Amino acid sequence: MNRSAGAGPSTVYFVGAGPGDPDLITVKGRRLIEEADVVVYAGSLVREKALVYCKEGVELHNSASMHLDEITEVMVSASRAGRKVVRLHAGDPSLYGAVREQADILEKESIPYEMVPGVSSAFASAAALKRELTRPGVTQTVIFTRIEGKTPVPEKESLASLAAHNATICVFLSIGMIERVVEELSKGYPPSTPAAVVYRATWEDELVITGTLEDIAAKVKEAGISRQAMIIAGRAIGEGSEASRLYDKGFSHGFRNR
Ligand code: SAH
Repeated sequence: MNRSAGAGPSTVYFVGAGPGDPDLITVKGRRLIEEADVVVYAGSLVREKALVYCKEGVELHNSASMHLDEITEVMVSASRAGRKVVRLHAGDPSLYGAVREQADILEKESIPYEMVPGVSSAFASAAALKRELTRPGVTQTVIFTRIEGKTPVPEKESLASLAAHNATICVFLSIGMIERVVEELSKGYPPSTPAAVVYRATWEDELVITGTLEDIAAKVKEAGISRQAMIIAGRAIGEGSEASRLYDKGFSHGFRNR
């Protein structure tokens, strides 16, 4: 422990735990978890499995039952005591992680912190589908969003208006409202648009459901899925489409001049 007199507070690390499979934590994230004296983990989604890397005697806090001040109090006091602190978030901390309000408090308290990225469930879901989210001639844009629930979504970002772009759309935190999601998306995308739901991507009980905007909601209901799932829609995840020019033998670029 770096508790030597005069040493300032230790750095708090916000670490992305990845989508579930503990092998999908970054090497850096894993090292930080191994070294941590205190780990505060978002227990609602971070699997206990991610905690296998913790050293013996680590102090664990499940933030699911804590409010913001309690969470930051644990981090601030441990940091001031020179202890190594990891704040573990599901997927990548920058998406729906509520990290900003924690970071703001750390800044106010003059506690140094760093963010370590993780594999977002959006990417784990794309991998489960074996699909690329951007396709030439189809879309070069990916939208991360959610439907309005307790957390409001700005008017200009309604699913219906986002759908009008025909981009690939990854809808977080919304599987419980799949019917409304589909209804809104259908205001912009044609009904034949490919849609998929990935439940617990990379977990042992991962489930992939594919279809179109017309039938995906019924399939999801039938499978009984109402939580921990990603909804992805857009032509990019469908069959066929132009090949990228990146590996086209007639196309030269900075790394391959003909
Ligand atoms: N920061 C996280 C997202 C947290 S919000 C990330 O980057 O993945 C929680 C939402 O993420 C869930 O409602 C669900 O939509 C999605 N999610 C998290 N883990 C998932 C997983 N393993 N499989 C599918 N979706 C997941």
